[in-house]
Amino acid sequence: MHKRLFIPGPVDVAPDVLEKMSMPMIGHRSKEASRIQRTISEYMRKIFNTKEEILVSTSSGSGLMEGAVRSCTAKRAAIFSIGAFGNRWYDMAISNNVPADKFEVEWGKPTTPEQVDEVLATGKYDLITVTHNETSTGVMNPLDEIGNVVKKYPNVVFCLDTVSSAAGTELKVDEWGVDICIASTQKAIGLPPGMSVCTFSQKAVERAKEVPNRGMYLDLLSLYNYIQKKDYQYPSTPSLSHMFALEYQLDKIINKEGLENRYKRHIEGGEIVRNWARKHFEIFPDENYMSNTLTNVKNTRNIDVAALNKALGERGYQISNGYGKLKDKTFRIAHMAETTPEEVKELLKVIDEILGLN
Ligand SMILES: *Cc1c(COP(=O)(O)O)cnc(C)c1O
Repeated sequence: MHKRLFIPGPVDVAPDVLEKMSMPMIGHRSKEASRIQRTISEYMRKIFNTKEEILVSTSSGSGLMEGAVRSCTAKRAAIFSIGAFGNRWYDMAISNNVPADKFEVEWGKPTTPEQVDEVLATGKYDLITVTHNETSTGVMNPLDEIGNVVKKYPNVVFCLDTVSSAAGTELKVDEWGVDICIASTQKAIGLPPGMSVCTFSQKAVERAKEVPNRGMYLDLLSLYNYIQKKDYQYPSTPSLSHMFALEYQLDKIINKEGLENRYKRHIEGGEIVRNWARKHFEIFPDENYMSNTLTNVKNTRNIDVAALNKALGERGYQISNGYGKLKDKTFRIAHMAETTPEEVKELLKVIDEILGLN
């Protein structure tokens, strides 16, 4: 039996979108491949709210995160971490020999604009990474405020992880002053895993030119240069199956559902889970910074999360346990991609039945 996924990626994919993954292959050097890629870039600019260039990578989002920190740090990177995925960005820098320092806050709290200002005022850093929506804690960072601070430092390349928020929450890449904004296909975009997308600003282009060892497959400057020269084709063979499905899904998101409606639907799903969590448990993150795509619930009743998930599985549903050190201390319910408020209500009703809540 298929379990309906309420986990923060991979998500359930709509059957018509899934079908596009099995279209017959075309040559990756064909005009049609260029057309599809160009269209994907135009659509993604709307999701990111940017005029800058778009790059895709046949890797999950982690690939572009690693590529960003390696390709664009000339001096030293400041990694602002609010959880597991922020920490992962630090590990990527260190393992690529990129000089970096990590600024981590207590899990459940956001990165504050004051903290960013204080770190950048030292003048030591020329690249920063920030997590928009931290999937391990359920926190969404205050990007309006953080963006205003980063603007005071024009030499800093601003990298943002929107892997679990893109296409589920409004992103204002140009307004925030973000240079490299990264998303994966298997979260709120609603596709199978295996491809990722990012913005790449002119400032990032100029910076990358100053960095000598950018690697190869994930050298963002070489991807950028190639698509300029070759009409949106890529140096190596991309996952054309993902491209077929992505073009189709982005048309649905932007032209059929509409971005505003989609974001509203995500907030509605989130409100339902949050109200339920407040009634029966507690919300893990600081309530001023809650994610719209997933809710991290504090396990105040000390329920056996694995047993709950097993019982849910028998009924055709799956949620997530807490991430890393939060395993058993929290559990996570995603309300992203195509998940409707009605499906969220249905899931919560089943959880109520299993746990005997009312
Ligand atoms: C899932 C996730 C990642 C990792 O993305 P992959 O596509 O699995 O490589 C990074 N950051 C956040 C916030 C995520 O939710």
